[in-house]
Amino acid sequence: MADEAFVTLATTESYCMGATVVARSLQRHGTTRSIVAMVTPNVSQKSRLDLESVFDEVIVVDMMDSEDRYHLALLERPELGITFTKIHCWTLTHYSKCVFLDADTLVLCNVDELFERDELTAAPDPGWPDCFNSGVFVFKPSLHTHARLLDHALQHGSFDGGDQGLLNSFFSSWPHTDIAKHLPFIYNLSASSIYTYLPAFQHFGHNAKIVHFLGAMKPWSSHSQWEAGHSHTMRRFVSLWWREYDTQQHTTPP
Ligand code: UDP
Ligand code: MN
Repeated sequence: MADEAFVTLATTESYCMGATVVARSLQRHGTTRSIVAMVTPNVSQKSRLDLESVFDEVIVVDMMDSEDRYHLALLERPELGITFTKIHCWTLTHYSKCVFLDADTLVLCNVDELFERDELTAAPDPGWPDCFNSGVFVFKPSLHTHARLLDHALQHGSFDGGDQGLLNSFFSSWPHTDIAKHLPFIYNLSASSIYTYLPAFQHFGHNAKIVHFLGAMKPWSSHSQWEAGHSHTMRRFVSLWWREYDTQQHTTPP
């Protein structure tokens, strides 16, 4: 087992589909690090076994919910309270350093160089670039940091009701201190940039290293939703995601 790991999280069967793709895409591009899934107790035994066939470790963690209906309503994403569960990644102290990847990301090439970075390294959020997006970040597991994060959550909550608000207020020096802790956007290319800044996407998009299907629509959402009104590029990323998912299905015995 490697001393460093990529970590993802799945609290539902759908996000397990996403987690599978995260693991497969990391393996396809030859990562030398361990790949770890955190799941909550409600995830079925079958899904857990499926994950065990692609992950080096599947760890059951407690479900945590911000229960912050007000801020989640502002975000129009009531389901994101559950993302507080992500904080448990700091308890993985048998690894010296980890990279967290949301279950709705797709890795397009080897990104092991991320382990050269320190805590807390992340890419800017496209909606508010002085915040980092918490879909891809480098961190150092530590029970001390975990306890401080829980304490911070209890004291201050989260300004968006999800993990991203909490992590940004905890690592509050991120926007104006060490530029080495700022990842290039191509490590967390949110699909929405295709619509918000198309010329930049056309110019730089071919360098993308990790695509993030940020937002309410996920690759596993119904096909018809993606057919309607989405760009060719977006549909190409979604079909790449499905190709990775189907590869997995074929390698797992029924
Ligand atoms: N997540 C989960 N179950 C949920 C919602 C979120 O397991 O019901 C996890 C999953 O790893 C997901 C991450 O939390 O990728 C963050 O949520 P999401 O990606 O939906 O947020 P977005 O990136 O769209 O803001
Ligand atoms: Mn995400």
